[in-house]
Amino acid sequence: MKEIVLCKYGEIALKGLNKNTFEAVMVKNIKHRLRDMGKIEYSRSQSTLYIEPVDDVDMDELVDRLRKVYGIAKLCRAKKIEKSMDAVLSKETTDYFDESLENAKTFKVFAKRSDKHFALKSPEICREMGHVILERYPHLSVDVHDPDVTVTVEIRETNAFVHAKALDGAGGIPIGTSGRALLLLSGGIDSPVAGCMIAKRGAQIQAVHFEAPPYTSERARLKVERLAQIMAGYCGDIKFHCVPFTKIQEAIRDNCKEEFFTIIMRRLMMEIAVKIAEKEDIQCLVTGESLGQVASQTMYAMVCTDAVSTLPVFRPCIGMDKSEIVEISRKIDTFETSIEPYEDCCTVFTPKHPKTRPTLKDVEKEQQRFDFAPLVETAVNDTRTYYINAD
Ligand code: ATP
Ligand code: MG
Repeated sequence: MKEIVLCKYGEIALKGLNKNTFEAVMVKNIKHRLRDMGKIEYSRSQSTLYIEPVDDVDMDELVDRLRKVYGIAKLCRAKKIEKSMDAVLSKETTDYFDESLENAKTFKVFAKRSDKHFALKSPEICREMGHVILERYPHLSVDVHDPDVTVTVEIRETNAFVHAKALDGAGGIPIGTSGRALLLLSGGIDSPVAGCMIAKRGAQIQAVHFEAPPYTSERARLKVERLAQIMAGYCGDIKFHCVPFTKIQEAIRDNCKEEFFTIIMRRLMMEIAVKIAEKEDIQCLVTGESLGQVASQTMYAMVCTDAVSTLPVFRPCIGMDKSEIVEISRKIDTFETSIEPYEDCCTVFTPKHPKTRPTLKDVEKEQQRFDFAPLVETAVNDTRTYYINAD
């Protein structure tokens, strides 16, 4: 049996004169994501992309990958058949609907006839197909207003397609249409969600991770790399910057008042992230912060961290409850990895009583007790950069 996948655009369809540009970027992303799946043909018509494998491919895997591509709102597997009513009404074709129709109660047939020379008109195609389906699945009844399943017959120039089940796509707009973003990626639940939310709006994501060996282990870093790998299924290949942060954290511990440890550490993280972003021609930083979640995520603390950034800092989780963030992390499949119990540099030397209402003046004064600039420069120079690809 010959199966193809139809992808329906979401917001791209509304892009007016820019639609072609967005469409081209999405197709490029899809081709990259499917590059190791054999020869595949692509064609477009009416806000739908037709993806037709030429070689034998694992269709489940193909569909799984496509469901993570931003820009696709809905997709469905369709059977490609000969362009004739015999083929449309054959047992082989109705067999294809088994899975979708067996558990349904109501259905309707929808016909799309782009070949205006086809012998039957759309209402006739619907009538005949409806008749055959009712004979084959007597438990069903027709509901043209709100059916459980819509069986679609598409008569195109060279072939016909039939399909019955639409799957949700990832939505959003294609990656690469909204600039570049540098995600501060920890091993936690929030930052992978934040990264995917910004990627969903079209940004190309790079990640920066701070590690503090020997206080943080190699296994902790490997966990973060695994998170990046899961994210790459959605975000595309991720350029990953791993920053050695130990000396800076020790200097904070040895020179600053304990209640300021976290806030100064976060300011230095931001400073380093900005330097990496500038090198990479990136336009914004992204964190997984949520207002009031912990002491370093109060409005006062964020004023102090933002003060060192010359780039906008986006925090897509800012107004979300933990439970809402968890829901997305389960959806993008990062949750189980995020909750593995490894240490993060943020949990090294944590103050017992962090300041929840620091003032910028006090923080700056405290930070001036030590000249961090040379350590910052060394950390940036010693940063290891490599690519993490989706598996
Ligand atoms: P997450 O679940 O994303 O780790 P969190 O609720 O644990 O967030 P914090 O540990 O305070 O919060 O971190 C806040 C944000 O700072 C994170 O969302 C992430 O963007 C960034 N961050 C924290 N630790 C690191 C790290 N080791 N490397 C890079 N970024 C980090
Ligand atoms: Mg964390």
